[in-house]
Amino acid sequence: MYHYVQPGRSAPPHFRYLPLDSFRRQLDHFQSNGHIASQAELEHALATGRPEPGAVVLTFDDGLRDHHDYVLPELRARGLWALFYVATLPHTDGHVLDVHKVHLALGRRGGRRVLEELENVIRPEMLEPGYVAQLSGAIYRGHVEDEATALVKRWLNYYLKLQHRSFACEEVFRRSGGDAARDVEQHYASGPQLRAMRAAGLGIGAHSISHPLLSQLSDAEQEREVLGSIHALGELLGEPVTSFCFPYGGEHSFNAHTLALLQRAGIRCCFSLEPRDISAADLQDRPLALPRYDCNQFPHGTSRVGPERG
Ligand SMILES: [Zn+2]
Repeated sequence: MYHYVQPGRSAPPHFRYLPLDSFRRQLDHFQSNGHIASQAELEHALATGRPEPGAVVLTFDDGLRDHHDYVLPELRARGLWALFYVATLPHTDGHVLDVHKVHLALGRRGGRRVLEELENVIRPEMLEPGYVAQLSGAIYRGHVEDEATALVKRWLNYYLKLQHRSFACEEVFRRSGGDAARDVEQHYASGPQLRAMRAAGLGIGAHSISHPLLSQLSDAEQEREVLGSIHALGELLGEPVTSFCFPYGGEHSFNAHTLALLQRAGIRCCFSLEPRDISAADLQDRPLALPRYDCNQFPHGTSRVGPERG
């Protein structure tokens, strides 16, 4: 699983991504130690329930502009296939997703500055009971950059009540110079760019509307996020969508209702996040919750922070 992949020449000062040259080295590694699966090979494995030894399926989440600008040319040059997962809200409503508002704010200002901003934004009544005591200035100060970044994510993902998270994400985004119209254009692959990727033979699947933790939603909200994104992406691409991937991933990111919705929508394969190889049992019994590794778990997977120098 990949997210940001770019040369990094114009990356914001604290922005974290996999450098394009490292991505190329990972492709070299996969191609010399096995091979990268084609669409036909993945479909064959799903149909027969037998994984192909040494085959790797490449997946890219969040419909990022990086995927069109840097990943597509690299895959094309090597004749490789991959799956891309798109959350539809930026396309239908021109909104930056909450998860990316935070990435962009952290990238532009750094974890410590964003923590300080959160201190100004969060009120005790906005927090889950049990975390209110932690709302004191002391928690925000004296952290090294990476700790502060992890803490920002913890505040936004766990400590804040669900109904206040979008407000807090928007505040830190806006205070870091975020601009929805400009950032949607710069951050995401556009509709025509996604269609160009599809025309190049690559696979495109749905990834919800707004990138929530699906397991935290009511059944009706899940239905809207899952079926709504499959429908909206189908409209955008002009063809039915047959693959999906859970925002955040992992066992806690979906539930039985999510799986029932995916089945109802005719989804044939779906990826989660669980660092192990796909087994025959996965293909036969749980094709809607296939395991995946994060790209940093392979050689050359070290991310870079900030612009490339020199
Ligand atoms: Zn995602």
